[in-house]
Amino acid sequence: MILDKIESLLAEVKEMKASNAEEIEALRLKYLSKKGEINAVMADFRNVPADQKKEVGMKINELKQTALERLNALRDAIETSEDGDQGLDLTRTAYPIKLGTRHPLTIVKNEIIDIFSRMGFVLADGPEAEDDLHVFTKMNFAADHPARDMQDTFFIEQNPNDVTKNILLRSHTSSVQARVMETSQPPIRIICPGRVYRNEAITARAHCFFHQIEGLYIDKNVSFTDLKQVLLTFAREMFGADTKIRLRPSYFPFTEPSAEMDISCHICGGKGCGFCKHTGWVEILGCGMVDPNVLELCGIDSKVYTGYAFGLGVERITNLKYQVSDLRMFSENDVRFLEEFEGAK
Ligand SMILES: [Zn+2]
Repeated sequence: MILDKIESLLAEVKEMKASNAEEIEALRLKYLSKKGEINAVMADFRNVPADQKKEVGMKINELKQTALERLNALRDAIETSEDGDQGLDLTRTAYPIKLGTRHPLTIVKNEIIDIFSRMGFVLADGPEAEDDLHVFTKMNFAADHPARDMQDTFFIEQNPNDVTKNILLRSHTSSVQARVMETSQPPIRIICPGRVYRNEAITARAHCFFHQIEGLYIDKNVSFTDLKQVLLTFAREMFGADTKIRLRPSYFPFTEPSAEMDISCHICGGKGCGFCKHTGWVEILGCGMVDPNVLELCGIDSKVYTGYAFGLGVERITNLKYQVSDLRMFSENDVRFLEEFEGAK
């Protein structure tokens, strides 16, 4: 009786079929689990007469072994077919692998950093979400000063009782200068590259974020002559040895005196073209001697030390070098635009 049952189970497990893991698990539960068919047969084993125990025992072992082997074979078959479903084509060639390019803003930023590094400037960094104290107050923007309106930005947290505790997206990288000055003493010679934010309508010529690089040098006897010579060296390294510069008086709250610097238009060679609006000059940066108030606000003795600062827009310099007509292209992630810079270093 029990031998008939075992024979019929043996025939069943030999024919087991499954097309996925769930079906295999169902078969395992049916035959091999605690409450499965094979365990039920083993529970009956104690009722088998002593002289048949050896034969029945061997048959049960054979049944269990066959069921296990069949399930393993089904599992292997499914794993193999699942691998195949991934569409892995081992005959495909691995080359050519398409390499990306550096973003034009990164290329130009690295070039600017390289030029100033060779003149002894070291990199400094600071947070993009910054407090008013470092963005405005320590940079000589009084709480109600109209110069604050020149840089409308994005406020994250307003503090009605203390304006210096407002949190905002920095509108210039001068906040990094403030942080370096309040934690170290001269000589300070730093260059601060970073992303800055302004609340402006997005057009071909303006964006709500752009990239700045600011420089700061503070030491004894630093003069405007030093500033002019450093900027002339930069302009010649960046745009060619015959580049001329000119400085025009300007206003910034954190420098006194302040100036805007133009370079001779390297597209027309100074003769006048559409790019330089037929003046022969293009504006590239703002600069000046650090206002003594800024030094004092940041804990540096303005009677002992003087310094200069300058700031330039990476997008502006990139436009001059590569004549990108629309500022928005820098952040649109259009691969066709980025591929144009494959040859640039
Ligand atoms: Zn020109």
